[in-house]
Amino acid sequence: MRWGLIGASNIAANHMIGAIRGAGGDIRSVLSASADRAKSYAAEHGIAHGYDDLDAMLAADSLDAVYISTTNEKHFAQAMSAIAAGKHVLCEKPLAMSVSDAVTMVRAADAAGVVFGTNHHLRNAGSHLAIREAVQAGRIGDVLSVRVFHAVYLPPFLHGWRLDNPGAGGGVIPDIVVHDADTVRFHLGEDPVDVVAIDAASGLGQGVEDSCMSVWSMPSGAMVMAHESFTHAFAQTGLELHGTKGSIIARNVMTQRPVGQITLRTEAGEEAITFSDHNLYVRALDHFHAAMEGKGRPSADGIDGIKSLAVAAAVAQAAKTGQRTTVDYGGV
Ligand code: NDP
Repeated sequence: MRWGLIGASNIAANHMIGAIRGAGGDIRSVLSASADRAKSYAAEHGIAHGYDDLDAMLAADSLDAVYISTTNEKHFAQAMSAIAAGKHVLCEKPLAMSVSDAVTMVRAADAAGVVFGTNHHLRNAGSHLAIREAVQAGRIGDVLSVRVFHAVYLPPFLHGWRLDNPGAGGGVIPDIVVHDADTVRFHLGEDPVDVVAIDAASGLGQGVEDSCMSVWSMPSGAMVMAHESFTHAFAQTGLELHGTKGSIIARNVMTQRPVGQITLRTEAGEEAITFSDHNLYVRALDHFHAAMEGKGRPSADGIDGIKSLAVAAAVAQAAKTGQRTTVDYGGV
């Protein structure tokens, strides 16, 4: 599989270049807004070609697929160009700046017959796969509530557009609420109906929120509370699912690494749930490559990306207005 990278980003450098290669992909080219940076990034990562013109890259290298990891406001136009050129697209979250743009991207990919995936890594984690299996096996009975703890300290090397540039899609809501929305949907198999939320700038955000707390109602009646932040240096991430027959308490699982601990608590007592420690991003790539060969679907597809963005958009709207806000999934 021949890949082009759209965006000379940190996520590509730190996770995705290794994951694409780890899954057997060949990275042919990289695009940056700067020709110099394209060249230096390509050299640093052993990529043959660096471009500063997307159309030239799409025309030149016989690519099968592109991975888009530019800042969020660029995803839409870049994905549309790649789809028009017949390339399979793995796009970073949030897919776009609006739900309607995300719907347009995903429908265009369907019409063009190319695979479209959203890079939601958490549902690829051994920890989350084990949690989902336990929930689906009925080990906690009917789910009553979910608590998501995703308040972290944004690493200093990422202090940039996320903290001060709403036009680039900055803020903790587009950055982390989308992941939490995808993870909750993955575990419960249902989509939030409506939300209430409060956001804040608590030390790092300038013109964007760096912290958010929200509560979501689910069609089953389950309640979800979610906390995301860029400013919490000492909080550990976690996920709890509470049901009529038991609770799952997972610590340190809302991360990019295959770590954490999961405990199942029932009438019988406490039990540790073990899980695979495979690389999250390599698993996503394995599924994407299989989908390119006509076998199955990406682990998170375009609809998943639209829905996670829709929940984040509703949370942002609820925080802004102070009103309980219905999630608008854009007709999907
Ligand atoms: P970065 O800030 O690292 O990269 C975004 C863009 O900033 C790049 O495309 C690049 O522009 C430019 N850039 C980055 N580093 C430099 C530098 N040293 N000098 C000059 N320009 C630079 O963002 P992230 O990698 O953190 O995020 C990119 C996308 O990936 C976002 O959509 C984000 O939401 C998503 N993401 C997803 C994660 C996941 O686990 N699924 C985790 C982290 C991010 P150019 O390409 O023009 O050179």
